[in-house]
Amino acid sequence: LIVLESVNKWFGPLHVLQDVDLSIDRGEVVVVIGPSGSGKSTLCRAINRLEPINSGSIVFDGQPLPAEGRGLAKLRSEVGMVFQSFNLFAHKTILENVTLGPIKVRKEKPAAVRERAMQLLDRVGISSQASKYPAQLSGGQQQRAAIARALAMQPKAMLFDEPTSALDPEMVGEVLDVMTSLAREGMTMVVVTHEMGFARHAANRVVFMADGQLVEQAPPDEFFGSPKSDRAKDFLSKIL
Ligand code: ATP
Ligand code: MG
Repeated sequence: LIVLESVNKWFGPLHVLQDVDLSIDRGEVVVVIGPSGSGKSTLCRAINRLEPINSGSIVFDGQPLPAEGRGLAKLRSEVGMVFQSFNLFAHKTILENVTLGPIKVRKEKPAAVRERAMQLLDRVGISSQASKYPAQLSGGQQQRAAIARALAMQPKAMLFDEPTSALDPEMVGEVLDVMTSLAREGMTMVVVTHEMGFARHAANRVVFMADGQLVEQAPPDEFFGSPKSDRAKDFLSKIL
């Protein structure tokens, strides 16, 4: 579904993605880990073209990433993204946050969108919060609302960039539970996270990045059980 070939990205003199090759199948859950500054967020942002690349190619669902216009809007609706900071619209209710994209961007009928939105809020366990404003919700609830908002666009893939890093520890589990069930239902997912439990249980593949390079990739059992590169061994010894 997503194919990156020799992708390179520079920020000025900084070579943040170095000849990255990565292919993600439909329904696959790929967890990306690596030290701070290794290029994980840049990789995610490149996939939905929040960040243009300097060379190489990224193909999504058979099409090279569109640079602008209608194609780009379509790509953004087909690739949902959830960030560390929840990025909900503060002056809209939770329900409005979820319905806005489908109604405004996709011009869908409001009544049908609201019904689907309520089902999604129910699925992430916050349907009782639908008429509240983001500030009235806990961090975990806000992040689940952000996931529901992305899902309301009926994306073909979801990108998560450290979705639980800004949460109080007691709320991490409720967000990971939603992500785990999404993974089980067959959503194609790219997840940057430090939650190694999630990587072990929900990922089909772990990708390890360091200094802009994709150093190693393997199924979680293999990666955590017998990492091959020194850099991965070193990283794991620090975090496990
Ligand atoms: P972290 O774990 O801290 O989130 P990361 O692996 O997500 O790190 P990136 O955010 O992708 O790393 O950043 C890769 C490198 O690119 C870093 O050195 C960072 O400082 C740099 N960088 C990121 N965004 C920009 C930008 N807009 N302009 C200049 N440099 C940037
Ligand atoms: Mg990052």
